[in-house]
Amino acid sequence: MFENTKDSKTKLSELGEFGLIDHLTQFFKVNYTSTLKSIGDDAAVLNHDNATVVTTDMLVEGVHFDLAYMPLKHLGYKAVMVNLSDVYAMNAKAEQITVSIACSSRFTVEALEELYSGINAAAELYKVDVVGGDTTSAIKGLTISITALGQAPQERITYRSGAQPNDLVVVSGDLGGAFLGLKVLQRENEVFKVNPNAQPDLEQYSYIVERQLKPEARKDIVELLEALEVKPTSMIDISDGLSSELMHICKHSKVGANLYEDKLPLDPMCISTCEEFELDSTTVILNGGEDYELLFTVAQSDFEKIKANPHLSVVGHITEQSEGIHLISRMNTKIPIKARGWKGMEDED
Ligand code: ADP
Ligand code: MG
Repeated sequence: MFENTKDSKTKLSELGEFGLIDHLTQFFKVNYTSTLKSIGDDAAVLNHDNATVVTTDMLVEGVHFDLAYMPLKHLGYKAVMVNLSDVYAMNAKAEQITVSIACSSRFTVEALEELYSGINAAAELYKVDVVGGDTTSAIKGLTISITALGQAPQERITYRSGAQPNDLVVVSGDLGGAFLGLKVLQRENEVFKVNPNAQPDLEQYSYIVERQLKPEARKDIVELLEALEVKPTSMIDISDGLSSELMHICKHSKVGANLYEDKLPLDPMCISTCEEFELDSTTVILNGGEDYELLFTVAQSDFEKIKANPHLSVVGHITEQSEGIHLISRMNTKIPIKARGWKGMEDED
């Protein structure tokens, strides 16, 4: 994870708006020939050979993040990830982002440097050009809005609407970690409020805390699917939890689905943390969000290509719409899946 740096404090007004923009954007490089003009003019100029994918996500302090347990560098990194994840969910390659921030005078130049060091780390690791943005003051708090642009040949772009009955339902990675990481961080924050001298003991939770603080968008899965010559029939990224994302695919594709509880991918640390917090791991997977894994469907004929891959789990299959959306439990009972209303098996008939 990232290390904390700097202690000095410089007021934003000391640099002024233009000085601040120059200061924060000085390290951004241009990687792509599709970036004809980056930061510095009235607008960036892009030249994509293929179809362009555009997506925006805004993160608001107090609504989407809490700086009590989210370091600014991580926030910058995560703000980029949530946007790249949406580009990858279209089966496209991300090439450019713009970054807009509104912040109150409570934030110092050093604080914004931290934020931008996270943005820069993400841009370098995922190879995207930061081609513009906007900087403005706010009466209260911090808001960060990022727009990501990507491209893909039109025939490779994958929508939510293409799933067909009998397709396989596949997820990348494992699920529930980011939600459980947040639970751990919130608990440590409560302990800290009561006893500011308490040292947080996060070592044993490192994987799930990292899933929350430093999510990774699955660029590698888009590349993997291309290498395997698999074109998903539909795809979405998992930002809100598996159940609501699956419902989006089913709604847009006009299909139903069966998910198998025993196939849902769980990391061992998630299992032990669920036990500790007395949470049902299936409920956490279905309703916990922010894992930024990919959920997609493939034709049955692609099963051989994906079945042995450690990054991919086949968790169910698509049915006719009239059959609805269900979880097949370990006890082999059929439980209807509802968005967010899903409260665990004990409450269902
Ligand atoms: P304008 O007045 O035309 O909006 P600005 O002074 O806001 O121009 O921005 C100057 C340049 O810096 C533009 O290229 C803009 O995209 C870029 N820029 C402004 N704020 C940011 C930011 N927070 N991050 C990245 N680039 C930025
Ligand atoms: Mg501007």
